[in-house]
Amino acid sequence: MTRIAFIGLGNMGLPMAKNLLTAGHYVMGFDLVESALAGLVAAGGKAATSATASLDAAEVVITMLPEGKHVREVYGNAVISNAPSEALLIDCSTIDVESARAVAANATEAGFDMVDAPVSGGTGGAEAGSLTFMVGGGNLAFERAKPYLDVMGKTIVHTGGAGNGQAAKICNNMILGISMIAVCESFSMAEKLGLDAQKLFDITSTSSSQCWAMTNYLPVPGPVPNSPANRDYQAGFTAAMMAKDLNLAQDAARSTGHDAQLGAHALKLYEQFVGQGNAPLDFSGIYRMIHGN
Ligand code: NAD
Repeated sequence: MTRIAFIGLGNMGLPMAKNLLTAGHYVMGFDLVESALAGLVAAGGKAATSATASLDAAEVVITMLPEGKHVREVYGNAVISNAPSEALLIDCSTIDVESARAVAANATEAGFDMVDAPVSGGTGGAEAGSLTFMVGGGNLAFERAKPYLDVMGKTIVHTGGAGNGQAAKICNNMILGISMIAVCESFSMAEKLGLDAQKLFDITSTSSSQCWAMTNYLPVPGPVPNSPANRDYQAGFTAAMMAKDLNLAQDAARSTGHDAQLGAHALKLYEQFVGQGNAPLDFSGIYRMIHGN
């Protein structure tokens, strides 16, 4: 049993922490939202009164926070100065490469082993313990982190040094944002052509256009029973977070002189959708805007 501090118990963090509890670890969690803490306690974990309090005697510290500014704040105000010196630090949030590298440099300077380990697989993958982890950091830190990532995920890839996990994640999510829009456009057009969504799905899900946005997250109700389209686009992975990740991808593209045109257009569409008051909706809800309802 390892003593784990888990900071950020939202849509992803809570089910990930639950899997660590199921595997027999001790989890002391912290979140700003009371109901998130209650969820952890109901699953057998302990609730801390602050991020600093959660670090008490921690052997592993895991963060699952919204953005780079939250990770910088939690590491700057709590983790670096209060985590036990032998603790392994794992940041699973999706954040900008620059913040990831800055936080890792501070952690390394303070003597910690740290990895950035953002995930793919959504809330379903977090619940099932089948996430993909993209891990940036040194070999020793990776080897220390792997047994815990194995509990929460199925595919664990060491992508290189600090920040490379985030680099892999934004490349992945740029594909996801673009492919979701492609699936929306085709299924919307199908309906307007009088083609049944199930029939189209039976073809596309086994043909050359097959992709995750279609087979796991279809943005129209029916053919994929667990997709957010069947629960009125309740998130899941919010439109605001997709816009955030597409922004991170454009930042990275600019910083390398790379021209990612479809990524830029996908960002424009997601910003428009978020600007219409849809920030908390699942990102597949962009179907409504594309379809025109
Ligand atoms: P979320 O908003 O549901 O959860 C984030 C949690 O962090 C919230 O409960 C919030 O209260 C908490 N928090 C914020 N600041 C805090 C602080 N200073 N101290 C303690 N807690 C704090 O977000 P999520 O969907 O769980 O996503 C978390 C990260 O994972 C994001 O970076 C996101 O991009 C990434 N991600 C999400 C999904 C998904 O499907 N939801 C998939 C892959 C990656």
